[in-house]
Amino acid sequence: MISVLVKKGHELHVAGKPSQEIETLKKPDSVALLPEKIPFIKPRLKIKVGDRVKIGSTVFEDKRNPDIKFVSPGGGEITDIHFGPRRIIKKIVVKLDREEAFEDFSALDETEIEIVEKFELIKAIMSAGLWPLFRQLPFRNIADPNVTPPAIIVSLNSIEPFQPSPAVYLTEKAQLFDFGITILKRLSDTVIVSSSAKHFADLDTLSGYVTHLCKGPYPADDPGVLVYHTKTDPAQNTSWFIDGQDVLLLASFLKTGKYPIERTISVGGVLAPEKKHFRTRAGVPLRHLTQRHPIDEKTVRYIVGGILSGYADTGDSYAGFYETSLLMIPRGAEKEFFGFIRPGFNKPSRSRAFLSYFNPSDLPMDATYHGEERACINCGYCTDVCPVDILPQFTYKSILADEIEEALAHGLLDCVECGLCSYVCPSKIELFDVLKTTKMAYYLEQL
Ligand code: SF4
Ligand code: SF4
Repeated sequence: MISVLVKKGHELHVAGKPSQEIETLKKPDSVALLPEKIPFIKPRLKIKVGDRVKIGSTVFEDKRNPDIKFVSPGGGEITDIHFGPRRIIKKIVVKLDREEAFEDFSALDETEIEIVEKFELIKAIMSAGLWPLFRQLPFRNIADPNVTPPAIIVSLNSIEPFQPSPAVYLTEKAQLFDFGITILKRLSDTVIVSSSAKHFADLDTLSGYVTHLCKGPYPADDPGVLVYHTKTDPAQNTSWFIDGQDVLLLASFLKTGKYPIERTISVGGVLAPEKKHFRTRAGVPLRHLTQRHPIDEKTVRYIVGGILSGYADTGDSYAGFYETSLLMIPRGAEKEFFGFIRPGFNKPSRSRAFLSYFNPSDLPMDATYHGEERACINCGYCTDVCPVDILPQFTYKSILADEIEEALAHGLLDCVECGLCSYVCPSKIELFDVLKTTKMAYYLEQL
């Protein structure tokens, strides 16, 4: 096993971590797909309101590559297609039948996987809408099925804190995970399984699969950080990555020939009524995850997909294709009386100006900035935490000056989109958003 030591980053001490407990939820009334939340695609609808779909029926495809399909996570009737400004498709809702039907795909057992042609294997995964589970560095777009990647990295742990724990989602799934790794080995000669050192002991019997052990603060176990610190050839910058839970989905699909609908979702944050894991459906309504408890949505901010790189939503929304965590924190809209002279013993921050710098406990986080954007004071905090040695403030300034070549020279493409630079910036500068958006624009320009 290779040990990878990442010195830069930041340990987030945020209260409300989900426990390792898992509860199976009953079936929701509806599930949904959120095309707007899937980056880099241009969706083209294959259904309309009133159509009936099975689990696994194609709902939309990517206009740029119609072989990239997204399928229904439920069987029933399409009851709503919600469009946003400029006809962006925000939400496609399926009202579930009591007895749901499945589309039938071809199944492959362990022996067949070893001998099936690689293009047939890729075709099978694509037909069931599971190809987008593979993403490609450095842009984190859907992997190109026409190339063989230098490596496929399986991230067992969360890229962000509060994501589902592998000790929970892998319990009693060792055989399925093993089958999943066999599938990945047909797609690339190098399959890397990475785990954070902090969670390695929890993996129990599956720890034997780990090839790279990442040591260091968040986001040491991000696949982009791993590549940055271990690469021996620039070609490795285009490695693919896949989440540990998604390896189980691939394996389950190829074993059964049915689209896998089960997901493990973690719910945390100081306002989450039950901080634990839930075994539920893909595309589940967010409110279904907290259904037994009345939630005052005027005071709660729902964050889907990660504390630093997720997005804010409401209880009316649904879990997206990639999102497997829900964080519930105070909106924090109320003004603090003389907030500017408070010592900040309970405010999570990297700044030494707050006494919390010396407080090792997990602290409650809310959704306010506690101030407005100010000019950069060259404190260097963003550089100190960046795990891939970018100078975020200079990269940001290059982008604002439209000097994209200079931003690239600063290492823009190495950015792993961890969000730490924005989090630690005392001037509240949205470095992360600007870098991420520019990376995305650069990718589209290359197309
Ligand atoms: S520049 Fe990118 S990698 Fe560096 S801290 Fe900011 S978001 Fe993370
Ligand atoms: S953390 Fe913010 S204020 Fe400090 S150097 Fe970076 S951009 Fe400037």
